[in-house]
Amino acid sequence: MFQYFEKLTPTKKRELEILNKYSFFNYGKKSPSQSCMCFGLEINEGWFYIIEQLCYKIEQHIKTHPECRNFEVVQVKQKFGSLRFYTYGGDETIDKFVNIAEDEASKTCEICGKNGKTRNLSWIKVLCNKHYKERK
Ligand SMILES: [Zn+2]
Repeated sequence: MFQYFEKLTPTKKRELEILNKYSFFNYGKKSPSQSCMCFGLEINEGWFYIIEQLCYKIEQHIKTHPECRNFEVVQVKQKFGSLRFYTYGGDETIDKFVNIAEDEASKTCEICGKNGKTRNLSWIKVLCNKHYKERK
């Protein structure tokens, strides 16, 4: 297992660290019919920081709100240039955190995390100027 982990790219390692750090991802614990988290974070690494910040806020909130104890994240992906963070069992505060993160992602390059804006390529993506020019 350790050997396998060593062969992973830094991006994949960071993704797995995020998924294993927060129990509400149920990473490796649910079948694909129960949760899409088995597919991992279906986003590029430029948005990882946004996910980390969001997860930290949610975890702190759950600690003091037992009614959210069954909270889980069922899918994290990019769709039509937007971050989609699908959850179950949360409350309005968590929804607000998610909205803030999705809004931040719409202004953040998916590749490097710098300021970006929505670009219409063959796929809609959020990119900074450098990564937009590279992909045109
Ligand atoms: Zn970029």
